[in-house]
Amino acid sequence: MKRWVGWAAVVGAALVLAGCGRGVDGRKIAHPPEGEWLTYGRTYDEQRFSPLKQIDKATVGKLGLAWWAEFDTDRGQEATPLVHDGVLYATTAWSKVYAFDAKSGRRLWAYDPKVPGEKGFDACCDVVNRGVAIWRGRVYVGTLDGRLIALDARTGKVAWDVQTTDRERPYTITGAPRVIKGKVLIGNGGAEYGVRGYVSAYDADTGKLAWRFYTTPNATGAPDGAASDEVLKAKAAATWSDGVWKESGGGGTVWDAITYDAVNDLVLIGVGNGNPWNHKLRSGGKGDNLFLSSIVALKPETGAYVWHYQTTPGESWDYTATQHIMLADLKIAGQDRRVVMQAPKNGFFYVLDARTGQLISAEKYVPLDWATHVDLKTGRPVEAPFARYTNGGLSTQMASALGGHNWQPMAFSPRTGLVYIPAQLNRGAYADPDRFKYTPGAWNTGVIRAAQGPHAHPRFKPGAGEATGELIAWDPVTQTRRWSVAFPHQASSGVLATDGGLVFHASQNHLVAYDAATGAPLWRYDEGARAIAPPATYVIDGEQYVAQMVGTGGAGGRDAPRTMGRLLVFKLGGTAKAPAYPAAVVPPPLDLKLATASKGDADKGGEIFANSCAMCHGGAAGYHPDLARSPAILDPEGFRAIVQDGALKDRGMASFARFFSVADTEDLRAFLLWQAAHPPTGPARPAAAHAQ
Ligand code: CA
Repeated sequence: MKRWVGWAAVVGAALVLAGCGRGVDGRKIAHPPEGEWLTYGRTYDEQRFSPLKQIDKATVGKLGLAWWAEFDTDRGQEATPLVHDGVLYATTAWSKVYAFDAKSGRRLWAYDPKVPGEKGFDACCDVVNRGVAIWRGRVYVGTLDGRLIALDARTGKVAWDVQTTDRERPYTITGAPRVIKGKVLIGNGGAEYGVRGYVSAYDADTGKLAWRFYTTPNATGAPDGAASDEVLKAKAAATWSDGVWKESGGGGTVWDAITYDAVNDLVLIGVGNGNPWNHKLRSGGKGDNLFLSSIVALKPETGAYVWHYQTTPGESWDYTATQHIMLADLKIAGQDRRVVMQAPKNGFFYVLDARTGQLISAEKYVPLDWATHVDLKTGRPVEAPFARYTNGGLSTQMASALGGHNWQPMAFSPRTGLVYIPAQLNRGAYADPDRFKYTPGAWNTGVIRAAQGPHAHPRFKPGAGEATGELIAWDPVTQTRRWSVAFPHQASSGVLATDGGLVFHASQNHLVAYDAATGAPLWRYDEGARAIAPPATYVIDGEQYVAQMVGTGGAGGRDAPRTMGRLLVFKLGGTAKAPAYPAAVVPPPLDLKLATASKGDADKGGEIFANSCAMCHGGAAGYHPDLARSPAILDPEGFRAIVQDGALKDRGMASFARFFSVADTEDLRAFLLWQAAHPPTGPARPAAAHAQ
C-alpha cells in the first residue's frame, strides 16, 4: 500500500511537471500528442499537418466560432498559436506575448517587451511577430528590437532576456525561435537597410550564447570566432568581389525558416537577399555571393557547416530563400527519399535530398520570366538576358521582390501527397540608379524606386501590376499543380492541412476549408478583416479547435484597411459572435485653400518620397496614412515636427533628420501638395486607424 502511494506521488509529480510546458522536449516536438501544436510548424518537419479529424469533410459545415480575443494593435498579425497542456500561446505585432485558456479563451497572462515605437522604422515589412517556442516550462520570443526573451510558461515572468543584435544597426527580429537539443535558435532581419546576417543558438536554461553562424564573409577578412569562420574562408569569401557589401555587411539575414531534420540531425536555415539588392553595386557584378539566397545545413550542437544549396546565385532582386523549409518522405522514381522542400521568392519549387542537399528537381510553381528553367546538372537558374538590369537596363520581370511566395507558411498532407502553397503573381521593376551612396541605417537596395506622375524617375516605368494570389495544391513528385484557387490580391494567409481531408486558408476576409484532394470549398467564414497568419488546430476535452490570428499588414499585405488584431477560435457547433469591425473611414480630399504654399522643389521632393517614404506611404499600399490626404502637409511647422523632430515616433514614424535636412523636408511637402492637387483616379484609400 505504502509503495502504491509512493508510486502515485511520483506519477502525480510527473503530471505536475508535465504541466505548463515542462514536458516539452525534443522527442515531444518530433512526435507530439495529436491534439497539440508544440512548435512553429507543429513538428520539427514543419509540415503543418495535423492528424486530427473530428472536423472533416462531413462535419466542417457545423464549424462555428468558439471564442475570440481582440488585441491592442492594428498592425500585421503573423503568429502561429502554439498549444500545450490546455494553454494557447500567441504573439501580436510589437512582439507581445499572450497566454489563453485554450478551451474558454480566458486570458491567463500577457507580456509586453516594450519595444520602442521608433524601432518600427527598422522593420522593412511591418512590426510583425510570427510566434513563440515552448521548451520545458518556458516560452521564448524574439522581439523587434533584437532581444531573445525566456518567459515562465505559467506566469509570463521573465526568466532571462538577452540582446542578440547590435542595437546601433537596423537589425530586427520577426521570426519564431525554434528549440533544438536544448538550444534556442534565432535569426534576424534588416537586409534592405544593410546588416550582416546570422543565426545564433542560446542555451535554453541560461540564455548563454552557444554558437553563431554568419551567412556572409567578414569584410575585414578577420575571423569572427564563430561557427562560420572556416567555411566562410574556404567556400564563401572567393564568391565575393569588391563592392558596397564591405560597408553594408552584405545582407543574407535568416529572418524566418529554421527547420530541424531529426533524422539526419541537421538544422536547415533559409538565407535572405543581398545588400544592396543590386549585385553590380554589391559585388561589382561578380561572384555567387555565398550564402545569400541559400538553404544551409548546420550541426545543431556546434553550428558547423554541412551543406548548402543556393537558389539564386548572384542574387539581385530580393529573391530570398528564407521561405518555409519543409521536410517530408516521398517516393520519387520508385525510391524512398527524405527531402527538403521550399518555394522561395524566385518562383521555383525546389526538392532537395535532405542528407546531402543535392538538387532532385526544380520547376516553376507560378508564371515567371526572369529565368527559363533550373539546369539540373549545375543546379543553377538559366537567367533571361534582361533580368540583370545593369548598364542602363530595365527589367520588369516576374516575380517581384515580394516573391512568388513570401513568408506565409505552406502545408503538406502525407495523405494527398500535396504541398499547399499560398502563392502570389506579381511583376517587379528593377533599374540601375545613376548614382548610389550607401547611407547607414536607411534603405540601401541600389535599385531605382519610382515616384509619381511628372516626378517619376525618367527611366522607371512600373510594370503591369499583376498583384494577385493563388492557393496551389502542388505535387512535389511530378512538380505539377493538381488544383488551384485564384484571389484578386496577394498576401493571403498561411495554410493548415488536416487528416480530416481539409485544407484551411484565408483570403478576402474569409477563412475557407477546402477539400484537400479537389480544392472544392466546403466551409467559409467571414472573419471581418483579412488574415495573413496560418491557422493551427488542437484538441481540448475531446473537442477539436481551429485558431487563426486576424489582421493584415506585413510584406505586400498592406492594401487592405488596418483593423485591430484578433484571435478567432472555432469548433463544431460554436455559436460565439465577434462584434463587427467599425467601417473603414476614407479621409476626404484636403482643402488646399487651407495650405501654406510651399517654395520647396517638388521634383526633389518626389525623389525623396520615392527613396524614403514610398515603402510605407506610397503606391497602392493603403496601410499607412495617404499623405496626400493628411492635414499634416498643410503647414510647414507641423510637418517638420513629424518628419524632422519625430513627433509621432511612438507610433513607428521615426524622425528622418538623420537622412534629410529641413530644406529637403519642405521639398517633400511641396511634392505632397502637388500630389494632393493631382489625385490619382480610382477609389481613395481608407485611413489607417490610430492605434499602434
Ligand atoms: Ca528582403
